[in-house]
Amino acid sequence: MSQPRLADAFSHRSTPRIFCIGRNYAKHIAELNNTLPGAACVIFMKPVSSLVAPNEVITLPQGAGEIHYEAELVVEIGHGGRHIRAEAAREHIRAVGLGLDLTQRDVQTELKRSGEPWERAKAFDHSAPLGSLVPLTHAMDLSDLHFQLSIDGDIRQVGDTAQMMVGVEDLVAVLSQTWHLLPGDLIYTGTPEGVGALTPGQHLALSGAGLASAEWVVA
Ligand code: ZN
Repeated sequence: MSQPRLADAFSHRSTPRIFCIGRNYAKHIAELNNTLPGAACVIFMKPVSSLVAPNEVITLPQGAGEIHYEAELVVEIGHGGRHIRAEAAREHIRAVGLGLDLTQRDVQTELKRSGEPWERAKAFDHSAPLGSLVPLTHAMDLSDLHFQLSIDGDIRQVGDTAQMMVGVEDLVAVLSQTWHLLPGDLIYTGTPEGVGALTPGQHLALSGAGLASAEWVVA
């Protein structure tokens, strides 16, 4: 089997880190029977090798059990900073786009049960397909961005950032309490309800108002 192509299409850009937010939409928390997060968000990270450019083929790990799709709004940091206030967060965001936080759900369920870290379930190769990013403009309302995922033509997930428990600007503020955010950092902001298992041959399409559409095929 040939090696999956690791972020070839992203080699021109600098992605210091990929932050991901878990449990940020109430209905998604309910569908997985998860508990509401405490005061802080659930935060985890993926390596750059997780990225898959639009129109590339997504290669899934073998024998890993169910691998779920999670459609998410993604933001890219432009100006870095530490201890960023939510009111100023917008000035630190360079671009927005759509991505998938692919998850080995069976593995994750086992890791949750045993209390082990989530990397094996979340940070595998090709676990973060990412569409093109569009510059953040004044016309974009970060608290009301609509997006959806279709699989083989059927709408599977519909989300709006208005439904987030912790909004985009607050997420930037929260992350910057722990990390000095850097230009190029990506933030996957959590998924709405409707997640499900991927199967080989599926065609995935992300779209959203004012956002770049993106498509992938599952190997
Ligand atoms: Zn997610």
